[in-house]
Formats: sequence, structure tokens, C-alpha cells
Amino acid sequence: MQKMIRNAKRAVFLAGVVLTLLPAALLNALEAQQAAPAQGRGGPAGGQAAAQGRGGRGPDQSLPLVQQAFKMTDARYLISFSRYCMLNGPNTANGKGSAAAPSQLFDNLYYVGRTDVGAWVLRTSDGLVLFDTLYTPEEAANIIEPGMRELGLDPAQIKLVVLTHNHNDHSGGMSYFRSKGVRVMVSEADWGALGGVPNPESVIRDGQVVTFGDTSITLLLIPGHTPGTIAAMFPVFDRGQRHMALLAGGIGPTGGVDQHRTAIASIARLSAVTRQAGVDVFVDPHEAIIDSAAWGYIMNPEGRKPNQNDLIVGADGFQRFTQMLSTCMEARVVMFQQNAATGAPQ
Ligand SMILES: [Zn+2]
Repeated sequence: MQKMIRNAKRAVFLAGVVLTLLPAALLNALEAQQAAPAQGRGGPAGGQAAAQGRGGRGPDQSLPLVQQAFKMTDARYLISFSRYCMLNGPNTANGKGSAAAPSQLFDNLYYVGRTDVGAWVLRTSDGLVLFDTLYTPEEAANIIEPGMRELGLDPAQIKLVVLTHNHNDHSGGMSYFRSKGVRVMVSEADWGALGGVPNPESVIRDGQVVTFGDTSITLLLIPGHTPGTIAAMFPVFDRGQRHMALLAGGIGPTGGVDQHRTAIASIARLSAVTRQAGVDVFVDPHEAIIDSAAWGYIMNPEGRKPNQNDLIVGADGFQRFTQMLSTCMEARVVMFQQNAATGAPQ
């Protein structure tokens, strides 16, 4: 029953996204068409200036990019698409969540956390690596640790905590693990907001590989969401079959044009590195970023079908996702610039 309600809620949400998006896209297309005759031989720039001279608002130059991004996406990425291809897209990373069922997603990868944000545990032959720590030390103690025990994982075996970035929904529980003497790693830029670098061992360097037993984790700096956001790449196994996963905690930019350009550059590089490594699995601590099919799969362990893992999106699928994201960000840069030119609020 709960599952049905959840599915129904999701369907309503997705329908809402589509209904919000389509009319806006249609309106934009109409607007562009109406403005087209005014362009004459002066080209789009002249046309825009002419249109703006008339009514203060030209054709939406971001529309071709939004359409291009839409073609790259599939239904499962609608949440990300709608969030990143609009200036004020829906944000489900809103702190309104409750404890989720802890669950195992791969032979060696587990989710423990809330329904809106979580932490991931990677099991190696030499202990556990925890990615992110929820909002508070209390959540670390009352959600992460009991969730791990429920999954048969001993919290005392955590060898390393990696924070994807310094926002408090990811870093708030850090002090809980530090007080137990667990090594915590954060990028140098993001340690600033967390009180400064405690020691050189705690700094994530770009391209750094940390190895525990049979598992190597590659850490990559992907600034944009924060100046020191990182992503982690590591192998995962689905009933013995090897895949390559990328875990990111903040892939979308915050802020204006500069941060968007920084994020676009980060994604271009991420795309190249992950293509070479054959990344075909994407995991994230937030529903807002990951696709809806995958998040439903994580949240709903009892609804899973045998021999199916919705987190495996394929190497091409993952590359299309990164291209969609970066095209949406290009579109938003254009939107920012148009708003600046017309004096509209940013
Ligand atoms: Zn964040």
C-alpha cells in the first residue's frame, strides 16, 4: 500500500513536471516564432535587439539548447532535466525527508540515510568507506550506524569518511566520526567552511587514488556546486558482475554564470574520465540529481525485481546524462545573460 502511494506520488510529481515544462517550452517556441519576422536580414542578434526595442523581451535564445538537452534525456532523467534546464526548476533536495530503509544496491555498495539525502557505504576487503554523513552527528548515530548494522555492516570497520562537499546535508555528521578517530577526507577548498584542514592526510587531491584491500577509489575534483566538490569512481559488483560507478554529491552548480561555467568545465572533464573508465553506474546522495527510476529503486527495496538493477544505466546512458546536464547549464548561462540584458531579476 505504501509503495502504491509512493508510486502515485511520483507519478503525480512527474506529470506536474511535464505539465509545467511543456507549456513553457511551447510558449517559448511561439515567442521565438513571433519574433522571427522581426529578425530580417540582421541575423538573430539584430532580431533580438529589434524585438527588445519593441517590447523589452526578445526571443528566448536558450530554447535551442533546452530542446537539444531534452532530446538527450529520457524519461528517467526528467527531474534532473527540469531542475537544470530551468532557472527555478523543482528542487527535491529540500531537507524534507525521514529515515529511509537501509539497503544494499550492489554486492559491495549500500545506502543508509533519509528519503531526501543519504550516505553510501562501500565495502572492501580491508574495511568500509563511508561517503557523506547526513545533517547532524545525531543522524550519524541514529540513522547511519543502525542502518549499517541492519545490513550486517560493522560501523567500527569504517576506515575512511569521504565528504563529497561541505554542505551540511553531507557534512553535518562528520564530527561524529572524527570524534571516534576515523580519517575524514575533504577537498582543500571545502575544508575552509568546515574549520580548516586538520592534517595533510585529510585533503583530497585531484585524481588521487585511495586503496583499501581489493578496492581502489579514484577521487576527482569537480568544482561548481562548491569550490571543492568531488566525485568518486570505484568498481561495484552486481551478483559478481563488475561495473564501474561514479558517485557525485554535487554535480549541479549553485550561483550564477561563473559557477555554471566552472561546472560545465568540470562535467566536460568528468565525462572524458568516466568514458575512459567505462562508468555505467551513477549514484548520488540526492533524489534531485539522480534519475527517478534509480531513486525509486534505492528507496523501495521490497519492490525490486530479481535480476534487475536500475542503477546500471550503461556507459552510453551515463554519457548522455552528463551531456544533458552540461547542455542545460549552457542554456542557463544564456538565460542568466538574457535576464541581465533585460534587467529581469536573476
Ligand atoms: Zn550541496
